[in-house]
Amino acid sequence: MNTAPHPITKYIGAHVSAAGGVENAAVNADELEASAFGLFVKNQRRWQAPPLTSDNIDRFKENCAELGFCARQILPHDGYLINLGHPDKEALAKSREAFLDEMHRCEQLGLCYLNFHPGSHLKQVDEEECLATIAASINHCLDRSEGVSAILENTAGQGSNLGYRFQHLADIIAQVEDKTRIGVCLDTCHLFVSGYDLRSRDDCEKVFREFDRTVGFRYLRGMHLNGSKKELASRVDRHHSLEQGFLGMDVFKYIMNDRRFDHIPMILETVDSSLWAEEIALLRSLQAIESGQDEEG
Ligand SMILES: [Zn+2]
Ligand SMILES: [Zn+2]
Repeated sequence: MNTAPHPITKYIGAHVSAAGGVENAAVNADELEASAFGLFVKNQRRWQAPPLTSDNIDRFKENCAELGFCARQILPHDGYLINLGHPDKEALAKSREAFLDEMHRCEQLGLCYLNFHPGSHLKQVDEEECLATIAASINHCLDRSEGVSAILENTAGQGSNLGYRFQHLADIIAQVEDKTRIGVCLDTCHLFVSGYDLRSRDDCEKVFREFDRTVGFRYLRGMHLNGSKKELASRVDRHHSLEQGFLGMDVFKYIMNDRRFDHIPMILETVDSSLWAEEIALLRSLQAIESGQDEEG
């Protein structure tokens, strides 16, 4: 008799701590009853970090297998110091080296994604030149690594950070040679503060239609699910808890019930980690309500 449960279609989790070793991330995610997680594969505030040990690597893989996380449910994030669009040659080389090191760490852990903010022009070059530099950096790193895809995140557009328009992401992808290893992660807070209104179902329809036309859902590899402490188009990156701030819940209800967001890691980076387990459960409940209505209608 087939008593298999419904297959999970939505992978939901949070960016969990990897303190004490990357292997702890899966355990921390499991405690939230998550079906996905994000993590840093090295200290995110430093250039240098000791290499992963074979013990780290083995235990990470064991924990993931035991707790039911596969690579496509895990979205590692790169460190904060890296700028793959840096206008200075030496600084750019340093960033590329650091990014490549993170790609190799992901490879060692059997992961398939590395999520990053595209880069910043630091007001020294124009946007077009910076986007070309970012694409060249990605090509450089993909050439020297295997199996891990570079996942561009849309940004809030704070300072000189690029990636705050869908067109930026499309322009970078167009210049990446291996299209099989480039993808996109959309952050709901960043979308909102960069000017993409998501407060109603109609807003969501419109924004994601534009995303599909400009970039394409075929490149979507992950989501960051965050509320926003700042207003629409403020271009200030301040995450809030899901039920607080200016964004509202419609966008999360929309995402939880749209097939185009199936089978990708959807990661909370909300400010209050004590709410994560609740927020994950809340997201699941949004999905249940809507599909119930669909069956009736
Ligand atoms: Zn994010
Ligand atoms: Zn952010």
